[in-house]
Amino acid sequence: MGGNKFIVFVMYIALLVAFLGLISMIFDLHRFAFYLEFLILLVLFLIGIIAAIGISHNMRWAWILLALFFGFVFLNMIFIKAITTANINYFMHLIVVAVAGFFISLFSIEKEKVEAAEEETVTKIFTPGKYIASKTGTKFHSPKCDWGKKVKKINAVWFNTKEEAKEAGYKADDCIR
Ligand SMILES: [Zn+2]
Repeated sequence: MGGNKFIVFVMYIALLVAFLGLISMIFDLHRFAFYLEFLILLVLFLIGIIAAIGISHNMRWAWILLALFFGFVFLNMIFIKAITTANINYFMHLIVVAVAGFFISLFSIEKEKVEAAEEETVTKIFTPGKYIASKTGTKFHSPKCDWGKKVKKINAVWFNTKEEAKEAGYKADDCIR
């Protein structure tokens, strides 16, 4: 997760640069373009804040939102160049940050997807339930208990609650508190 935290930090900086760049840029605009960009900035600000909170919690949707954010910032720059005479060369760094942010977000969407899939596989293979019993035994155990570990896969019966295990006729081992 260390690498992930670094990417999140980099993205916070990218968001900050994007916001500061956009704010300083809209004051170069006039009337119609200014009001329109002011509205766009408010929307982007909301999206950026939600995405920033989401990515710090490893949420995949937040990376999708962030990719949309940077993609939109980029398109917005093209739009501004089209509708105004403002010199966007001065804001080249904004375009660079938007493109870099977009691709890092795309990469992170895929990474979160792979990690989520791996987590699911691990859970299914190693702990299909919270408690384990043997078809040939009389007690149910924690999977971490020495007896629980000795249960052969072919004889294993899994339960998610103590009640389920008791209803199936098993008694709690000492390892179950
Ligand atoms: Zn036990």
